[in-house]
Amino acid sequence: MDARSIIAAVRDGRGLADDAAQWFAQGLASGGVSDAQAGAFAMAVYLKGIGAGGRVALTRAMRDSGRVLQWSLPGPVLDKHSTGGIGDSISLLLAPALAACGAYVPMISGRGLGHTGGTLDKLESIPGYRTDPGVERFAQVVREVGCAIVGASADVAPADRRLYGIRDISGTVESIDLITASILSKKLAAGLEVLVLDVKAGSGAFMKSLADARALAHALVDAANGAGCSTIALITDMNQPLGQSAGNALEVLEVMETLTGSAVNEPLWELTEALGGEALALAGLAGTPQEGASMIDEALESGRAAAMFGRMIAALGGPADFVERYPDRLPAAPVIRPVPATRDCFVTAVNGAVLGDAVVHLGGGRLVGSDRINPSVGLSRLARIGDELDRGEPVGFVHAASEAAAERAVAQVAAAYTLGFEAPREPLLVAERVA
Ligand code: URA
Repeated sequence: MDARSIIAAVRDGRGLADDAAQWFAQGLASGGVSDAQAGAFAMAVYLKGIGAGGRVALTRAMRDSGRVLQWSLPGPVLDKHSTGGIGDSISLLLAPALAACGAYVPMISGRGLGHTGGTLDKLESIPGYRTDPGVERFAQVVREVGCAIVGASADVAPADRRLYGIRDISGTVESIDLITASILSKKLAAGLEVLVLDVKAGSGAFMKSLADARALAHALVDAANGAGCSTIALITDMNQPLGQSAGNALEVLEVMETLTGSAVNEPLWELTEALGGEALALAGLAGTPQEGASMIDEALESGRAAAMFGRMIAALGGPADFVERYPDRLPAAPVIRPVPATRDCFVTAVNGAVLGDAVVHLGGGRLVGSDRINPSVGLSRLARIGDELDRGEPVGFVHAASEAAAERAVAQVAAAYTLGFEAPREPLLVAERVA
C-alpha cells in the first residue's frame, strides 16, 4: 500500500477502504505521509467524499493512530460533544450532572475556534485548574470523582492533530467527511460507550442552516454507531447565545449560579436536561429520555451536580472551596458598560457570530493561535429573542479591560441586535432528534 494509490482512489471516487484508512492514518501519525500527500488526500476527500463506509473507516483509523483509553468501571462511560456555539457552557453542567446519576464522564474538550467559545478556555479561568494533567491523572479523577474535563494530550488521535493542521491551511476544513472523522476520532479515543451530540444550527453556529446541521448530525451519528459507540444527536438552536453570558469567567459564573440555584439560567438547564436524558437512556441508566431528564433535573436541583463539579475542580488543581466561594475566585474585568436599546422594542433577531467576534476582540478568544486569553472579559445579561425592552434598557453588558475596548464592543453588540415593534416567534431550543 502507498499514499499515492490511496489518494488516487479517493480522487477517482472509489472511496476509502478500511485497510487504506489504517495505513494512511498511521502514516499521518508517524510522518511517513508527507504534508503534500496529506493536503492532496484532504482535498480529494473534500471534493469527492468517502461515503458512510469511508467515514467509519477514517474515524476508526484516526482513533487508533494513538492511545485509546480502556475502562473497567461500575457504571457506563458517556460523553457529549457540541459542534460549537456562543454562550454554550453545557459541558460544565452536564458532565457533573451525568456523574451524579452514576455515569463516568471522561470529557476530552477543545479550545475556542473562530467566534465560538471553548470549554478548556472557560475552565482555565478558574485559578489553578489543570486542563493538561496527563492521561494517568485524568483516568484517576474519572475513576474517583466520576467526571473530568481536560484537553487532548499529544498521544490522543495524533493523525487527526496533523491532518487538522493541514486542513486549516489548505481550504479543506469544511468537509462533512473530514469533520466527522476529526471530531469522533478524538472523542472515541476516550473509550466511550455512549455519546450524545449537540449539533448547533443558526447564525452563531458553523452550520447556519438546518439542512447543513441535519447532514452533519446524520454523518456523525452513523459514523459513531458504525465505530461501535451508541450515539444520538440533538439539533439545537444557535440563532442566539445559549446562556446570557459569553466569555470565559462570565460563563463559569453563570454555570455556578445555575448549579447552586442562586440564579438559574433556563435554556442552559433545559438543554442539559434534554442531552443528559438522552445519554442516560442510551446508557441504560434510565428507561426513557424523559426519565433520564428527570434524573438530571434532580441532580441539578438537589445540589449533587454542584458538589460533583466542586470535587472535579479540586481534583484538577482548582480551589477546594470553589462552589462556596466562586464569585471571589473568578477574575473580573475592570470596565463594565451597558449596551442600551435605542427605542422601545422587542428583540427580533441576534447575530451570534457578531457577538462571538466581539468577545474575541475584547480578548476573550484568539485571533491567532498564539494569543493569550483574558478570562475576565466578555458579555453578560444578554437579551434573548422575544424580550421586550424599554428605550435605554440594556440589551446586555460589556466587560472589558479598557474604556476603548468597551466602546468598540458596545458598538458591536448594538449592531448584533435587531430590534422591532412586533413580538417575534421564538426559536425552538431543540429543533430535531437524529438517531
Ligand atoms: N472540530 C474538530 O475537532 N474537527 C473539525 O474538523 C471541526 C471541528
